[in-house]
Amino acid sequence: MSRTTVPFTVPSFAGEVSDAVVKVLDSGWVTTGPQTAAFEQDFADFLGAPHVVAVASCTTALELCLRAMDLPQGSPVLTPSLTFCGAINAILHAGHRPVLVDIDEDTLVPGPREVAEAAARTAPRAMVVQNQGGYPVDVAALAEAAGLGRDRVVEDAAHGPGAERGGRPVGAESHAACFSFYATKNMPIGEGGAIATGDQELADRVRAMRLHGMSKDSWKRYLPGGSWRYDVKDVGLKANMTDIQASIGRAQLVALPGWQKTRGELAARYDAALDGLPGLTLPQRGLDGLQHAWHLYQVRVPDRDALIAELETAGVATSVHFIPANQMTSYRRILGEEECGRVPVTDRVGEELLSLPLYPGLTPDGQERVVSALTGALRARG
Ligand SMILES: *Cc1c(COP(=O)(O)O)cnc(C)c1O
Repeated sequence: MSRTTVPFTVPSFAGEVSDAVVKVLDSGWVTTGPQTAAFEQDFADFLGAPHVVAVASCTTALELCLRAMDLPQGSPVLTPSLTFCGAINAILHAGHRPVLVDIDEDTLVPGPREVAEAAARTAPRAMVVQNQGGYPVDVAALAEAAGLGRDRVVEDAAHGPGAERGGRPVGAESHAACFSFYATKNMPIGEGGAIATGDQELADRVRAMRLHGMSKDSWKRYLPGGSWRYDVKDVGLKANMTDIQASIGRAQLVALPGWQKTRGELAARYDAALDGLPGLTLPQRGLDGLQHAWHLYQVRVPDRDALIAELETAGVATSVHFIPANQMTSYRRILGEEECGRVPVTDRVGEELLSLPLYPGLTPDGQERVVSALTGALRARG
């Protein structure tokens, strides 16, 4: 048996990626261009979404969608406190005020009750919802609870590829769903993001805003018959995806369904092997009509920090998703201690969350080592 540590995550790359990248390098056009357009079409087909705009990251995708709402500066925007810091930063960079919403402890996302409470207190102008770990949130129910139209909701679908609700992929029906192709995510490119939308106007707007707000993609200006002339109608960001990334994404997308199948099998094996261990709470079951993306396998356990150290000693790397935003120094300074003290379930559950290794390259032997290390540590606690 190998003595090396079981890594928390390892990115998978399809065999076709190398050739695809070399072709782009040889083509004479490496930044946003025909491969990006083709990847957008491929990803739109995968989701069954009307429009996809590829961008540099999920963080910039969130910021672009919020900016495109043209809300007054300083508008309250609901967000889970149990989320990635980049999603909070996107609200702040768009010029707005994050309102931290508590979670329902079964789903680990804000439910209608938590959203309605926060909305009654702050009269939000928009909301970011998040598919924590790959759980497909009910966007329509949360929009209603917030008293917001669907066009005021941005879906942080960084954990979303592969998740389905009512037979439709996450993001297929969103006004604005933001995906991440970061190295650790279900469909890694290395870096990259995408916005899926049913709104042609929003698609056109963020397409310009991802490249400074220029009215024409630069590659179209360089095509035969293209013009040097362009306008800047919105002050945009530098947040475009390159054709090198897009070519990787196209090859990865073909492999994604197989990887999702493996993730589901690994999760089921964890369910069976860990059920009934003392002190351990497994992820929610009984997801009727829902397809979980199994981006993360999140368990809950008391005295978590000590367990992380014990697992590390036993050669098993783990992670935590997430350290709640309300506990971070900068947000406490910006939002105030009182606002950051309004999410008691997040604070309590956040202390217990532990993400186990789960990725397509995790071997049966590796998973067995995770299971036996965890079982040993918990049984030793008595
Ligand atoms: C990873 C992640 C992001 C940010 O994605 P990037 O593509 O790295 O910007 C946003 N939200 C959540 C929930 C994430 O896990």
